[in-house]
Amino acid sequence: MIPHLNLQRQTEPYQQELAEAAARVVASGWFILGKELERFEEDWSRYCGARFAVGTGNGLDAIALIFKALAFPEGSEVIVPAQTFIASLLGVRQAGLVPVLAEPDPATYNLDPAGIEALITSRTRAILPVHLYGKCCDMDAIRAVAEKYQLVVVEDAAQAHGATWKGRPAGSLGDISAFSFYPAKNLGALGDAGAVVTDDEALTRRIRLLRNYGSEEKYYNELPGINSRLDEIQAAMLSVRLRYLDEENKQRRLIARRYLNEMRNPDIRLPDASTCEEDAWHLFVVRATDRAHFRAFLEQKGIQSAVHYPIAPHRQKAFPEWHGLSLPVTEQLHREVVSLPLFPGLTDEEQQCVIDAVNQYRLP
Ligand SMILES: *Cc1c(COP(=O)(O)O)cnc(C)c1O
Repeated sequence: MIPHLNLQRQTEPYQQELAEAAARVVASGWFILGKELERFEEDWSRYCGARFAVGTGNGLDAIALIFKALAFPEGSEVIVPAQTFIASLLGVRQAGLVPVLAEPDPATYNLDPAGIEALITSRTRAILPVHLYGKCCDMDAIRAVAEKYQLVVVEDAAQAHGATWKGRPAGSLGDISAFSFYPAKNLGALGDAGAVVTDDEALTRRIRLLRNYGSEEKYYNELPGINSRLDEIQAAMLSVRLRYLDEENKQRRLIARRYLNEMRNPDIRLPDASTCEEDAWHLFVVRATDRAHFRAFLEQKGIQSAVHYPIAPHRQKAFPEWHGLSLPVTEQLHREVVSLPLFPGLTDEEQQCVIDAVNQYRLP
């Protein structure tokens, strides 16, 4: 079986370095808020072309902490794409704000800038573009709307480590951004981790406080914070893996380019290729009108696929208040998307198998 993702294979080349880094932390006897985190925060902010990075316990907390630090009035609205992983919406809600769901552009699957203006009300304070599947949103258009209405732009860059928009890295394209280092992301820890990235010094300080009980000096609480820190072991793991991120993303782009060039099937719609060399190709997502049939065909050919994501947020059981919404583009995408195997270390033969299977597939 060709796996959709194989973290064992992806981690294997760095096993020795990871073990050494972990041993270094164990020997140091210092496990929370220490030198490893400081070093990773510095390296990660530099990688993203921003002044500051603040490590957090995970990506969801990074989003929630950003909105808590922005301190908009309770009930303020944030425009969020309806086509995203649930964390984008939960982060907004955890800060007492209201996500307003926007349709994606059917060509790129990302937030459609043309639909934003109609959703803006007197309560709107921010836009949360999500660089879905590793492709940056149209940030020129989104920033233009944000400027016109004085809105803050918060990037959800959890799937876009190393992606660029017109040469600028994801994480430096808005006012402040959130990353996840969940193991399956392009830059993954060996557990949960996340980060906030920004040029804004005042916001950085608030987030540093908020992630650590609202406290800078131990037992003195300036703000009602939470506990969401990126621990020393994970920071050390990330510092090792960061050294290989560009090389891994290059491999992802080569595989994506090959898929785009060699896959030809009128029944399978390929992802947008217009920014192929800038995208981080976290996932390679095609569309099939009969998804169940297509996935069964792949499986029979020994190819594992996945679906990101099967149920739209506004159709989830957790959010009955959104069940009345009609978002036809989002709903269609959720019915049709299929993620094919794409990860660093996927062999040439495996890539060929995936290409052949896609090209041989026929609708029933
Ligand atoms: C993974 C992800 C998150 C959340 O990250 P966690 O570290 O799992 O909390 C947020 N947004 C998007 C788009 C993601 O893919």
